[in-house]
This record gives sequence, structure tokens and C-alpha cells, in this order.
Amino acid sequence: MFYFSQQLGLDLEELEEIEEDAGLGNGGLGRLAACFLDSMATLGLGAYGYGIRYEFGIFNQKVVDGWQVEEADDWLRYGNPWEKARPEYMLPVHFYGRVDHTPDGIKWVDTQVILAMPYDTPVPGYKNNTVNTMRLWSAKAPNDFNLEEFNVGDYIQAVLDRNLAENISRVLYPNDNFFEGKELRLKQEYFVVAATLQDIIRRFKSSKFGCRDPVRTCFETFPDKVAIQLNDTHPALSIPELMRIFVDVEHMDWDKAWDITKRTCAYTNHTVLPEALERWPVSMFEKLLPRHLEIIYAINQKHLDVMAFVYIDRLRRMSVIEEGDCKRINMAHLCVIGSHAINGVARIHSEIYKKVIFVGFACLGPISNTNLFVVFSPFVLISQKIGEDFLTDLSQLKKLLDFVDDEAFIRDVAKVKQENKQKFSAYLVEQYKVKINPSSMFDVHVKRIHEYKRQLLNCLHIITLYNRIRKDPKKSYVPRTVMIGGKAAPGYHMAKMIIKLITSIGDVVNNDPYIGERLKVIFLENYRVSLAEKVIPAADLSEQISTAGTEASGTGNMKFMLNGALTIGTMDGANVEMAEEAGEENLFIFGMRVEDVEAMDKKGLADIIFVFSFRYNAKEYYDRIPELRQAIDQINSGFFSPDDPGRFRDIVNMLMYHDRFKVFADYEAYIKCQGQVDQLYMNPREWTKKVIKNIACSGKFSSDRTITEYAREIWGVEPSAVKIPPPNIPRE
Ligand SMILES: *Cc1c(COP(=O)(O)O)cnc(C)c1O
Repeated sequence: MFYFSQQLGLDLEELEEIEEDAGLGNGGLGRLAACFLDSMATLGLGAYGYGIRYEFGIFNQKVVDGWQVEEADDWLRYGNPWEKARPEYMLPVHFYGRVDHTPDGIKWVDTQVILAMPYDTPVPGYKNNTVNTMRLWSAKAPNDFNLEEFNVGDYIQAVLDRNLAENISRVLYPNDNFFEGKELRLKQEYFVVAATLQDIIRRFKSSKFGCRDPVRTCFETFPDKVAIQLNDTHPALSIPELMRIFVDVEHMDWDKAWDITKRTCAYTNHTVLPEALERWPVSMFEKLLPRHLEIIYAINQKHLDVMAFVYIDRLRRMSVIEEGDCKRINMAHLCVIGSHAINGVARIHSEIYKKVIFVGFACLGPISNTNLFVVFSPFVLISQKIGEDFLTDLSQLKKLLDFVDDEAFIRDVAKVKQENKQKFSAYLVEQYKVKINPSSMFDVHVKRIHEYKRQLLNCLHIITLYNRIRKDPKKSYVPRTVMIGGKAAPGYHMAKMIIKLITSIGDVVNNDPYIGERLKVIFLENYRVSLAEKVIPAADLSEQISTAGTEASGTGNMKFMLNGALTIGTMDGANVEMAEEAGEENLFIFGMRVEDVEAMDKKGLADIIFVFSFRYNAKEYYDRIPELRQAIDQINSGFFSPDDPGRFRDIVNMLMYHDRFKVFADYEAYIKCQGQVDQLYMNPREWTKKVIKNIACSGKFSSDRTITEYAREIWGVEPSAVKIPPPNIPRE
């Protein structure tokens, strides 16, 4: 690649700058899927990644006057050199219509047909012989779309209406961890599932395992040859769609079809936040996917029949169908019933999920955890010490522990970090005309903006630091540059207000002559993969401060650890395992544990008899802690919004009276812990030693390791040993 680009007079780094991000996901979940594809290729596992080729990916975030403004992500404008359309594999997808129960079978008829056009992108493994395929579907109107045979008069309208059909793959829904029950989203979910399953079954039938007799394929070996991993519930329709194909199209009997479906599918749960769970109105299914609704009812009936013997009291909680004013389909329950393996994404998350789901589903198999991660931007330095093998076997980073006391190595690691900080500072100047102090501590908090991720807790720390410097300007302070970045879902009012608060705090702090170089607050516009690749290697401190029990795993946390930042975080998600691997003393862990949070939420007896209990009461912290009260009063009184003093009323009101994520309860511990961060930062040598220990202990967080576990424990597949000779060497 380098050779060719040089020959063409092009610089590879310049090309990389110009390249558009393929922003086809919302946050951690999508980024993780991309890492998994990379790992499967690198491990020599033959696999396909399926998804939608959105014409517009996640919006580009602009900050105007401190507010988020969304701009369409027209990433295909200049074409996409990495993809190849495969019209020969185009497939029909059906919507709407009705179900005909005829003597010779069940037929889904009078449907509207949309075509799914596949675009393939190669996924090469690292220095091996494997190139896998990511196949993304694009919606295409059939030529006769909206053109009934005798209806030529509406020709123009019919052609214009082709856009309606093609809207299915137009744009990614920009919610992270939030369910919005829009029909177009349900169409997208069925579209990718229907096209993908046809593709898989076509491939199975054309293989020698399809053991075709002249009349029908036998699917006995299907689960041995095909494993479908459901990345959250978004492709949950795979379960009823497989059943529909097996029963209605292939005329298999129900029980056999169910057995094959269940042995084929496995489900990864990504969150326990109730607002993220997909619960589709039955009425939407009735209209869009009438046959699937029947199948889901049948799946549920059989499931409840079996359960009735064992858990008579739990039937309602275990049902796929939720009764009520609006009858809904619970997609997570469907996945749990229709899969042979269920896993969470970090140990703590799997434990919590077990409790949630086991309330009803105790009869099901174990819920495992498989945790992640991330392609590493290699330190040349590390290769000098331990060779290059760690790139394909991250556990070898452990060898770095031999060098924690090597003074030359400590200096070199610190130097690399300083260079990265310098480089990122230059980037901010060049791109945004923002000047920061490269020798200040880079305190980085980048991820989607969400109440549960508690960017507001970070804001309270910034304000507290600001007030302390103002109060006692003669004291010496560790200079900090706090950088916060992330997109707010366009319909998430509180998240957008949080962005405005961050930028407003920045306006006050950055322009206060009393503060000077000691504290700067930067909002990093348009946080995305290409910006993550720049900022994470430059970070000193990684903020991972979600309320314990809310972040399923997080993946940003591991990226920072691997790239030489120290973590300030709660015992949540994968932070727990990071602390376990590196030793709790090598992270800055603070605040409530899951048990503490649960105890505060305890309902029942304590409430009724009003005995002493630790119910969360924000007001109590506000009354007791003067620095917290001062910060809140400033936000509330317009100190950061003199042009509109009441602007942040909603935020203050939420924090004081209905904060589900208990920001105030962790305030004191967080501020104290940040003090310990400052203390250590004043001793660069000790800081860097902890950095080295962290990197050395981050080997577990390789997506290669995770995929190896998936392959062995869930899919039952082995790496392929097939070696193909390079194309320029003739075969013997
Ligand atoms: C890793 C990553 C995320 C996920 O970050 P979390 O801290 O785990 O929420 C989101 N967006 C981008 C661009 C990422 O690279």
C-alpha cells in the first residue's frame, strides 16, 4: 500500500486524513462490531459481517454558539473506493400484505417488495491469508414499484415514489441506548434480517452440506455449519424469520424448525437500561409483518405452556407479549427464548443481567460474559522492548512488567506520551484555532452524551476546581485541560442542554484572567472514530464515571488503558475487570458500588414502615456540602448563562429532584479522588510507572481474545488453516 501510494505521489497519512469515517453506528456497540470483524479475519475465522449501507451515517456534530447542531453525514458523496456492488446477489424483501391459511400451507401474500442490493467491503486479517467480507444492504425499488399493470397514467408519480421504498437505507437512527418505536426503524431491522437470512440459506444450499434431494434441502446440519450472533436485539427478527422460512417456505414441522433456529442463534445483550429495550407495539407488526406476529404469538404460547408447569407465578414476566394499553413485543425476551447462548459484555453486566432476566427465566442456561476489545495503535517503543508478537497476542504485554523500574524506559514512555500530546495540541490549533497547554494534564471524557455516563459529575468537578482557584489563587494547582466530547441524540433534550452547559462553563473558565493556564475546558466537536484515534493516545486521564450498574461494559475505558492513560472511574462495566487486572491501586476508583446503588433504591418494607434507610435524597448532599451547593447555585442563577439566567433550570431541577443516576451521591468521593490524581501527576515518574503497569495489564482487553472465546464457547468453530498463495506466484 505504501509502495503504491508513493508511486502515485501520494502520502498515506494525507490520504488517511481525507478518508471519510464510515459512521454507520452510534457508539460502542457499532465500533465493537467493527473490531470483531477485524479480529475474526486476523484469527483466520471465515465470517461475514452484515448490516445496512446507510446513505447517511451518524450525523456530523457542529457546535454553534455552544449548542449542538446536526448536519447530514453525506459520506458517499465522492464515492466509496472500498466497496463493490454485487447486483448478482440482489434479493427481495417483503412488507405489509396479509396471511393466507390455505390447505396446502400458510402464505404471506399481497406484499410490497423492496430489493436489497449488497455492497461488499473486504476485511483483511493482519499479516495472514484471510480476507472476510462485510456485506451491507442498500434498499432499491423494483422496476414495477407502485406501477400497477393498468395504471400507466401515474407513471411520473410512480417514479417519484421510488424514493419512498429506498428510504429504508437512507439514514441511521442516531439514538444510543434509547428505543424509539418508529415504523421506519422496524422496516430497517426486518430489511437487514430478511436479506441476510436469504443470503445465508442460499450459501448453505449451494454448499455440500445442503445435501439437496430433488424436492427439498435437509437442514439437519444447518446449526453445525451456520452460527448467527445477534448483536443486541436489533436483528432479533432473525428468530421469527428463520421460523417463517423453515415452516412456511421449506415445509418443515414446527418443532424441528424451532430446534434448528435455537441451535443457530446466539444473543449478546448490551444494556440493562429500561429505556433502551426494544418493545415494539403489536399494532405495528400487525400491519408491517403480519406473519411474523403470528409466529411470535406461537413461539410465546409454546414457551408459556412449558413454563406454566414450573413457574406458574412468573408467566406474565416471562412473556414475549406485554399486555396493557399498548400491547408490545419484548424483543429481549424473544432473543432469550430463541437462542442457545446468551452473553453480556462484562462480568458485572452479565451478573446484573442474570438477576434481571432470571427473575423469570431461571430455567435457561448460563449467561456468560465475553468482554472485549480494541485494535491498538502500537507504541514503537513496546516493540523495541518485547518484540512485535504482542500485536497478535496482547497478553504478551505482561512482559512490560519487567521494565517498570527501568529508568530509561520510564523516560521513553513519558516522552512518547508528551509527543502525542504535542501532536494533538497542534491538531486543535490547526483545525479549531484552539490553543491549549501541552504540559497540562489532559483530562479526557469522550463518549456519547448521556445522563447515565454522568458528564454532569465532571462539570461539577470543573466548577469546583474553578471556585477553588478563584478563592485561593496563590496556592499551586496542577494545570489541567479538561476535554469533553460526544454526540447527543438529536431528540434528547437533557443531553443537548448538557453540551450547552459544558461549553458555557468553558466560556467562563477559559476567559477568566484569574485562572490563566491552570484550567481550560474544551468541548471536542464531532467525536467519532477518527477523532478517537487522535485524542485517546494523547490522554493522561480517562474519565469513566457512570453510575455503578448502568454501563454494561464500556469500550472507551479499555482503549485509554491500552494507550497509556490512567483511569478515574467507578466500579462499573469493564472498569471492574481493569482494576482486577492492573490492581485497584493502579486506577483511581471511587464512589458507590452496585450494592450501594441498589440499597439506595430498595423498595418495600423500609418504605412502608418508614424505618431508617439510605434512600437517595439529592437535597441532603446539597445542604451538607458547601462546594457542591455553590456549584449548583452558580448553574441555577445564571453564572454560566448571564444572557439567560434560567437556561439550566431543567438540569438543576433534574439533579435536585429526579436524578436516576445519583450524581450528588458520588460528588464528594469524586472530588477527593481527583485530588489524588493531582497528587500523583505532580510526580511524573510515579505517574508513568502506573501507566506502564496499566499497559502491561491490558492484554485481556483484546477483541482477538474475546473472539477466540466466542469461537470456542458459542460458535464451535476453529480457525481455517487454508493458505492461499499470493496471486503473483504461480501454483505448483
Ligand atoms: C469507543 C467509542 C465509543 C464508546 O465509548 P464508551 O466510552 O465505551 O461509551 C463511542 N464512540 C466512539 C467514536 C468510540 O471510538
